[in-house]
Amino acid sequence: MSAGLNQAQREAVHYLDSPCLVLAGAGSGKTRVITQKIAYLIEARGFEPKHIAAVTFTNKAAAEMRERVAQLLEGKTLSAPGKEGRKIPTKQLTVCTFHSLGLQMLRQEAEQVGLKPQFSIMDAQDCFTLLQEQAATTDKALIRRIQNAISLWKNALVTPEHALANASDEDEHQAALIYRNYVATLNAYQAVDFDDLIRIPAELLAAHEAVRDKWQNRLRYLLIDEYQDTNTCQYTLLKWLVGPRAAFTAVGDDDQAIYGWRGATLENLKQLQIDFPVLKVIKLEQNYRSTVRILDAANNVIANNPKLFEKKLWSEYGIGDAITVTAANDEEHEAESVVFRLSAHRFERRAQFRDYAILYRGNFQARVLEQVLRRERIPYVLSGGQSFFERTEIKDVCAYLRLIANADDDPAFIRAVTTPRRGVGSTTLESLGAFAGQAKSSLFEAVYMGALEARLAARQLEPLRAFCDFIERLRVRATKEPASVLLDDLMAGIQYEAYLYDTYDDRQARTKWQNVLEFLDWLKRKGTQPEREEQTATGFDTADGLADTGRNLLQLVQMVALMSMLDGRDEDPDVVRLSTVHAAKGLEYPHVFLMGCEEGILPHRGSEGSEMDDARIEEERRLMYVAITRAKRSLHITYCTKRKYAQQTQVCEPSRFIAEMELDETAPGVPEVAPMTPKDRLASLKALLN
Ligand code: ATP
Ligand code: MG
Repeated sequence: MSAGLNQAQREAVHYLDSPCLVLAGAGSGKTRVITQKIAYLIEARGFEPKHIAAVTFTNKAAAEMRERVAQLLEGKTLSAPGKEGRKIPTKQLTVCTFHSLGLQMLRQEAEQVGLKPQFSIMDAQDCFTLLQEQAATTDKALIRRIQNAISLWKNALVTPEHALANASDEDEHQAALIYRNYVATLNAYQAVDFDDLIRIPAELLAAHEAVRDKWQNRLRYLLIDEYQDTNTCQYTLLKWLVGPRAAFTAVGDDDQAIYGWRGATLENLKQLQIDFPVLKVIKLEQNYRSTVRILDAANNVIANNPKLFEKKLWSEYGIGDAITVTAANDEEHEAESVVFRLSAHRFERRAQFRDYAILYRGNFQARVLEQVLRRERIPYVLSGGQSFFERTEIKDVCAYLRLIANADDDPAFIRAVTTPRRGVGSTTLESLGAFAGQAKSSLFEAVYMGALEARLAARQLEPLRAFCDFIERLRVRATKEPASVLLDDLMAGIQYEAYLYDTYDDRQARTKWQNVLEFLDWLKRKGTQPEREEQTATGFDTADGLADTGRNLLQLVQMVALMSMLDGRDEDPDVVRLSTVHAAKGLEYPHVFLMGCEEGILPHRGSEGSEMDDARIEEERRLMYVAITRAKRSLHITYCTKRKYAQQTQVCEPSRFIAEMELDETAPGVPEVAPMTPKDRLASLKALLN
């Protein structure tokens, strides 16, 4: 027990007398404290797994944590009095993201907040479309700003009424009006957005004592990773979940706070000390991840930020490889240079693809990189980017699933009824929409209302009713039959494959159909596993009154929505990982390539090209710190001297953070790489092989 921990870590693991905050730099073993503490609570302190919850930010981090805990507890038995010798039911543990914890709570408490358990979860894209309709504008930048404002309001627990009352100018007033409509519309659709997954449970616990008691009783010890990135809403949820017992351990690093733009607030670190005066603060100082050179570079960069808490970080690992910095002529050359150097490095070190991560500030940087990787046949997986689930064909299938689960989901209705086209034209839909608006019903419900017959001709009504009958039949079956059978019947019923071939050229149709098949296979696999093994698993006994199979479909649909939001599927084949720095938080890789280290990219210049104030630069610097500290053994940095912006080539300056790393220029391994042609590349590879 507790092997592989230093003294400060052990203290954090064993400490149970009051709430505990572990405040320490990157790679100091904070996450390890959490996993070890879970094991300790169960093995030595007699906690039942179902009473323990650990939350973190991304699916990938949750999956890793779950795996680490499972390894720690493998083959172990309970030692608590009366339970000695029993196998530990690790499946009952809650190790998940904030959002999936919120989803689990919302599912069980749906009725309390006026939702049915089959509520839909709308992704950012769905919500964008909805806002576009409400704002009646095609100005995408404006909609994005409104969407962002709404998200910040929700995360700060500001209601539409509040937002309206406090609007400081006409723009804000307009945004607040749209916010109010938006909330009402989501309600009408029986739908929630991602922010709601945490906001609604937080508000429910605050308002409802019985519900609060129930959850406080269920989750008796809480562990929170990456605490520095919690926003007001998440903090409120945590506070109500732990209640007066205040049994929790939070771990975090103020130097890694990188979600300020999403409403996360470092104030929560101070607030914790105010709300819990008996808070025990433990600091960790030894880094177990990186070589000295990498750690020094990280420390040097972050030293340029004002210090909130004093932290020292040292490593016992050797000095390590020199950090390389490479200038490229443009983004294509940069991608080629990264891919080529990665291949050569892997070859030299006899490493595997999975030992590498290529990190960048914004998703747009991945496009060129992907092309080069594909051309060079290097397997990779993209995380935190446009995911599998956002593809048109997958969203089409999901629209059907959402509609089967929740007939009030009007956006899903519109997408499904028009894909494939089944003789329902836009005029028909407009009349239906107007009618449903007056009748205050969902589109689906409206189709069956007698009064609609006066509005629509029989030839308009007939395909609508046929469609709804079809969905209704599947809905009834969903409560009795396994999801896999239902999925096959659904696909046959809508003739989706034929639709693809009618709509796209053969090659595209084939790819899209392959994607659908892959998706269905994946769903079926997930559908046959018990829910507690899922990404969204929390191990709660979900007594929501639905038959198992019906819940399966519902859970599948909601699960997909969550997966698409976070970071894709949890597979770990031997592939290079491409990721934004944000999505790589908490993770580590032997070798890291960091691209686009330029002024304007990292640090990022806002979309309006506005000057960066100190607070923004500090957050960008923390992002750089996060990026550097993902690397264990080697770090390779690239920047472009020129880059195309909106068809124009611009000259780029290397990032100020490169200078701040204070690299030893005389160290070996800081090569000047000339632009490489495919021929050069071949020649170099051959040279390497010889
Ligand atoms: P981050 O701030 O990036 O989330 P962290 O503080 O959570 O980092 P961990 O991921 O828990 O750090 O640990 C970093 C690495 O060090 C991991 O590979 C972990 O297994 C290892 N490690 C942590 N503590 C020890 C220890 N006492 N002995 C050996 N290795 C350790
Ligand atoms: Mg961690």
